[in-house]
Amino acid sequence: MATMKAIVVEETGGVDKLTYKDIPIPQPKEGTVVIKNHFIGINYIDTYHRSGLYTLPLPFVLGRESAGEISAVGPGVEGFKVGDRVVYIGGSTYAEYSEGKVDAVEKITNDISYETAAAIGIQALTAWTLVRESYPVKKGDYILVHAAAGGVGLLLCQLSKYLGATVIGTVSSAEKAALARENGADYVINYTEEDVVAKVNEITNGLGCHGIFDGVGKSTWDISLQSARRLGSVISFGNASGVVPPISISILAQKNLKIMRPALYNYLATREESHKWWGEVFELLAKGVIKTHIYKVYNLEDAKQAHIDIESRKTTGKLLLKATL
Ligand code: NDP
Repeated sequence: MATMKAIVVEETGGVDKLTYKDIPIPQPKEGTVVIKNHFIGINYIDTYHRSGLYTLPLPFVLGRESAGEISAVGPGVEGFKVGDRVVYIGGSTYAEYSEGKVDAVEKITNDISYETAAAIGIQALTAWTLVRESYPVKKGDYILVHAAAGGVGLLLCQLSKYLGATVIGTVSSAEKAALARENGADYVINYTEEDVVAKVNEITNGLGCHGIFDGVGKSTWDISLQSARRLGSVISFGNASGVVPPISISILAQKNLKIMRPALYNYLATREESHKWWGEVFELLAKGVIKTHIYKVYNLEDAKQAHIDIESRKTTGKLLLKATL
């Protein structure tokens, strides 16, 4: 049986649970295709799957996205053929080949490299659905973006600015502050040194922000609620610092706040939805509104180092793995 290299999680835990090993190349099934991966996107969610914060049946091949070419097509698949250049959002992508439902695959045009496709993927779709659906950003809004120099964070800065907002970013270092500014943040607050709520009040004349995008979670949740203006929206979309503790709903009455906890896959539930959002993201890329910032490309076998780096808060923008075929 033909084999491939993959990063397998046999039990959940720290980075030592990432095992680089040979496993069989997946075969296509009814309605699925197999993709020969060129680049694989790393997302913070991969650390939740590895650690067990989000559970998957064991053992599993880690990863949620890749870009590459179709190498095999299963029965019942229409509109895709071997050799098509595609981007894929689904499971088991830290591998030389991935098998996935054809609905989770989108074709990419020749002017988009595999590297760029893997770099925009989940993070750009997340950022764009957040600013269009979770809290539709409007011209003149004050928007607060936590972890503004991260993968989703940089894109939220670019896209909120594009939609006409004044963007306030939070970051943990001076280097990250400079990068957030380059990507659309009008103001940047170092939340490891400064009082974010006081700064937000200073910037917004004491009114607070219309929309808050919080992917940091536990350590920023209270700051997010306090930084919102009356009638504001607080969108909690991640847990990089830990899970947000349970809240009493009545606290929202203090400012008539809206809160939401979106997940990208619920915006991409049908072929039509997926196609629409991908189409818009490709258009924003072509217009230069979305700009990729690739922190580093690691070899597949070095996934462990990539996890160490993203969890240590030293990375900015996107981390990629290169499938070593
Ligand atoms: P990032 O590149 O943003 O990395 C996480 C960042 O979080 C770090 O760089 C760091 O920035 C910040 N951070 C703050 N506190 C901590 C901490 N204690 N440990 C580690 N990092 C911390 O990752 P992604 O762009 O991949 O993801 C960002 C968030 O978005 C994640 O929470 C992720 O789960 C979420 N997400 C949610 C989706 C959804 O569908 N809901 C889809 C995609 C992503 P700094 O040093 O500046 O504080």
